[in-house]
Amino acid sequence: MPNGNLKLAIQKSGRLTEKSLQLLKTCGLDVENYKDRLFVTVRNFPMDILFLRDDDIPEYVQNGVADLGIVGENVLLEKRSVVDIAKKLGYGRCKLRIGIPEYEELENIEGLNGKTIATSYPNIMQSFLNENKLDSRVIQISGSVEITPSLGIADYICDLVSTGTTLQMNKLKKSFTILESEAVLIKYKELEMNNEKAEIFSNLLARIESGLNAKNSKYLMMNIPKNSLKKIVEIIPSLKSPTVLSLADENMLAIQSVIPADKFWEINEDLHNEGATDILLLPIENIIL
Ligand code: ATP
Ligand code: ZN
Repeated sequence: MPNGNLKLAIQKSGRLTEKSLQLLKTCGLDVENYKDRLFVTVRNFPMDILFLRDDDIPEYVQNGVADLGIVGENVLLEKRSVVDIAKKLGYGRCKLRIGIPEYEELENIEGLNGKTIATSYPNIMQSFLNENKLDSRVIQISGSVEITPSLGIADYICDLVSTGTTLQMNKLKKSFTILESEAVLIKYKELEMNNEKAEIFSNLLARIESGLNAKNSKYLMMNIPKNSLKKIVEIIPSLKSPTVLSLADENMLAIQSVIPADKFWEINEDLHNEGATDILLLPIENIIL
């Protein structure tokens, strides 16, 4: 099995799987249908993909069994593995939060003193307590942490929370955030010792960066009255100067620009007010800076 290919470990089946495969696709990588396989070779790039449980990924990358991995920061910090973070990937965002019984109040973090906290993240929780000089008892539970307060095992919990519905079902509510997490690309510390792999990695990283840039940007096109040009250029939040093209109707101009994807709905109305028409907003596949 050992070949010169770069080995990337991703979650086999879970919340990060789809988005990670999507990211590889954006990078132009042709990953064959992976169903039920632990290992696939990318058809058009010197890379193999390993499908693992997310909890195992940091250790595989620490040991260099995998050169790279994609994993949540929550898992990475909990495992305390020694790896480099090569890139934050912007998906799989979640918060590790304290949950408390719904009828209790926790005004400030000092309220954690003397309490018992159940969590599947004992290392992250303990580091937080140490950093804040708090004295609580941490008990490690794997799975269904939310039921521990009602069973009298713990006063509070610390768990990944998104909507809070699971908390509510267990008569708990959200309190402080301990950690904000997103998916990250991690790298074996000694990957660059291997020249061949270092080169493949730098190619991959450039593709990932251009894919991430493109995802956060949109291509904006519209027609505007010639006399609105100055105002419209001020409205458009582009980094570079927009492209201005003439039209057959000499009172009109066509404008094209790359803008941050989340800004469009903020400027749409202003553009209309300045007489912009035929506004098109298009996805961008890649941006090579
Ligand atoms: P595995 O079988 O691989 O061990 P898992 O059940 O531990 O999977 P998932 O629930 O699939 O893990 O979550 C994977 C990662 O997705 C989490 O570690 C976290 O980084 C991220 N994530 C994003 N949103 C959420 C959420 N709402 N709840 C839990 N995890 C989330
Ligand atoms: Zn897991």
